[in-house]
Amino acid sequence: MKTYEIVIGLETHIQLNTASKIFCSCKADSWGAPPNTNICPVCSGLPGVLPVLNAEAVRKGALLAAAMHAEINPISYFDRKNYFYPDLPKGYQITQFDEPIGKGGYMDLRMPDGSERRVRIHKLHLEEDAGKTKIDRGERLVDFNRCGVPLVEMVTEPDLRSGEEAAQYLTQLRQLLRWIGVSEADMERGHLRCDANVSIREAGSSMLNTKTEIKNVNSIDAVRQAISEEAKRQIDAVEAGQRIESYTLDWDADTGTLRKMRSKETEADYRYFREPDLLPVVLTAAEIAAVQNSLPELPLARRARFIQDYQLSAYDAEILTSERGLSDYYEESVQLCGGAAKLVSNWMMNDLIRLMNDTGKSAAELRLRPADLAEIIQLVEGGKINPATGKSLLARVEAGAGKASQIVADEGLGLIADEDTLRQQIAAILEESPSEMQNFRAGKESLLGWFVGQVMRRTGGKADPKRTRELLLELLRQ
Ligand SMILES: [Zn+2]
Repeated sequence: MKTYEIVIGLETHIQLNTASKIFCSCKADSWGAPPNTNICPVCSGLPGVLPVLNAEAVRKGALLAAAMHAEINPISYFDRKNYFYPDLPKGYQITQFDEPIGKGGYMDLRMPDGSERRVRIHKLHLEEDAGKTKIDRGERLVDFNRCGVPLVEMVTEPDLRSGEEAAQYLTQLRQLLRWIGVSEADMERGHLRCDANVSIREAGSSMLNTKTEIKNVNSIDAVRQAISEEAKRQIDAVEAGQRIESYTLDWDADTGTLRKMRSKETEADYRYFREPDLLPVVLTAAEIAAVQNSLPELPLARRARFIQDYQLSAYDAEILTSERGLSDYYEESVQLCGGAAKLVSNWMMNDLIRLMNDTGKSAAELRLRPADLAEIIQLVEGGKINPATGKSLLARVEAGAGKASQIVADEGLGLIADEDTLRQQIAAILEESPSEMQNFRAGKESLLGWFVGQVMRRTGGKADPKRTRELLLELLRQ
């Protein structure tokens, strides 16, 4: 059997998180609303209405194009894509065809083995979403709530080579969309949907063979699985001497199988023409520059900077840049802790992330702000409280118990600061434990830990462990 290579291009539909729809003032996100309650004459396609373009959708589309290193088109156009389907009340979708908002570009992916891969972007265009239909007790029902929701369709070049790479692309795209704030990118809510074009070729060949399109792969696991299934089917077919036909497949997530839907439409089937009810979208050089300047540092760049500037391990840098809010939290805390990058990273990797998991909050939503974290870290580092008290304070500040230093003062949680008191306590313990003291002096130095434990027990954990150890050694060696 020959060796084959899988060639994959992905088309993603990204729901922009604008307040209103792309051509009317209905709410953009009506997740969970009863069917047909978030519609108006414009988005339900009644005769005689005119679309009005949402400027924020254009800005977010352009920002995404900038994040993809794409060329932002100074003049783009809307076109009508004509097809008939019950969820499309106008009989056409307003989309962009030959002059979209963004052209070209690329996204760099980091693979699990640490290597990087560049996926070229073919184009990004703005469009409106269609409604949805469902079959209920043998009847087809239609819900127009989603009609007119702003989408960016982003198409990659056929640069991906496995289901796993496609899954990585989607995972990192989802992170990036949230990072730059253009989409909630919640796949369960359909904010990020994916179609995959799959073909195979002999390894080493550079030709593109007939592809099939898998529709509705709407989770990252499904992308991985559906592509593997389809590649295997194509290889089996070619090995059996059959020809691959161009058609559309529907991924059934419930059964994990692909179902043939229809022969694939070609562009000519849609009879595109310019949307006569909308003007061209003109972006001045200043507007394009403003969009590009508003682009934040992207996750990969920030990750590299964290490794470089803070000497974090690749793993810690990866976790701390998994979300923009978390990485901002980290940098602010480091600054407040006088640049103690590794220390803050340890606290965040161990305790802060646990607190986020326990409370179900993102870093930005925590009541415990970087200033609170820095205060607790400094109390521990300054020998004012022990680490266990510090860790327990995280949850208490988060629960609204007030400032950490105030809780320590009010509840007497601070370590024994008075050396004479500590010395007295230790002397008392030594007096009560003559045989252990004798054994220690006879060379059983491992008993030091036992003595420290006794001091901690007697002081209710309020002895500074470092100072205790020093005083014990001093008194035991007298
Ligand atoms: Zn509407």
